[in-house]
Amino acid sequence: MPKRYNLLPLALFLLVKSFILHAKEFKILAPKNYQNQKNITVMFKIKTSKQNSFVRAYPSIVALKDNKLIFEDNSTLTYSDSKERTFKEKLKNPTPKDMLSIAYKPSIKITPPTKNDDSGRFRNEKLFKKLYGKNKAEIEKNLTKLTWLDGSTIYFNKRQNALKQLQKVIDELKTLPSEYKKFLSPIGGAFYYRYIKDTERLSTHSFAIAIDLNVANSSYWKWDKTYRYKNKLPLKIVEIFEKYGFIWGGRWYHYDTMHFEYRPELFESID
Ligand SMILES: [Zn+2]
Repeated sequence: MPKRYNLLPLALFLLVKSFILHAKEFKILAPKNYQNQKNITVMFKIKTSKQNSFVRAYPSIVALKDNKLIFEDNSTLTYSDSKERTFKEKLKNPTPKDMLSIAYKPSIKITPPTKNDDSGRFRNEKLFKKLYGKNKAEIEKNLTKLTWLDGSTIYFNKRQNALKQLQKVIDELKTLPSEYKKFLSPIGGAFYYRYIKDTERLSTHSFAIAIDLNVANSSYWKWDKTYRYKNKLPLKIVEIFEKYGFIWGGRWYHYDTMHFEYRPELFESID
C-alpha cells in the first residue's frame, strides 16, 4: 500500500520561506509627517525592475510623480525639463533624467570607450546634496569609518547604503590573490571635499561616495593630456566593484582608471 504523505507541513514551510525571502525586498517607509498622524499610513516601497531607476536605487527617494522625484522628507526635485542638451551642457547642468542618458555597461571586457561614452559623468548636484548632505558640515555628519585593505582608515557616506555596499566590496577584494595588491594599496583617497579639476562642479569624493585606488598604477586623461586610452587595472577588480553598484572611471572616454563611485541607479540590479 502506497505511503500517504501529509503535504500540509511542507506547504506551510514553503509559504513562510517565500515570505521571508520577499520580505527583504520591502522597505517600510513612514516619513516623519506621517508618524505624527493618528492613522499612520505605512507605505511599502516594492523594488521592481519597472520602477524608475532613482526610486529603485535610493532609499530616500520615495516615488516619481508628475515629473518630480519625491523624497522621504516630502521635498521634491524636477525630474526632466524636456530640453535637448549637448554633451557639454549635460556635464554642466543635467536633469536627473539626463543622468541616465548614457547606459552603463558593467561586466564586459575592457576596451577603449568610444567618443564621449561617459556613463555616470552627468551629475545633478542638487540630487546628490539631497541624498548625501547639502554642505560640507552635513556630509561630515553622515561619514562612517572603514578600514581599507592596506589597513588605513577611510571615511564613506553611510546614507543610501553607500557604506554598506563598499564594505561588501572590501570583503570580496580581500579574497583576491596577492598579485592584485599593487592595484589596491596604497589607497589613493576616498572622502575629500573638493571641486573637479578645472571646474565649478563638486567631485563625488566631496559626498564621500567615491574611492580612488593606487594612483601609481592608474591613468587619468587630464594628466595624460590625451584621450588615448590607457589602463592597467584588471577586470576582476572592476567586476567586484560593479557587482555592488559602483561605476568605474576606466569605462569612460574621459578615462580615470583609479576612480570608482557608488551609482546604483545605473545598474539594473546589484548584490
Ligand atoms: Zn576619484
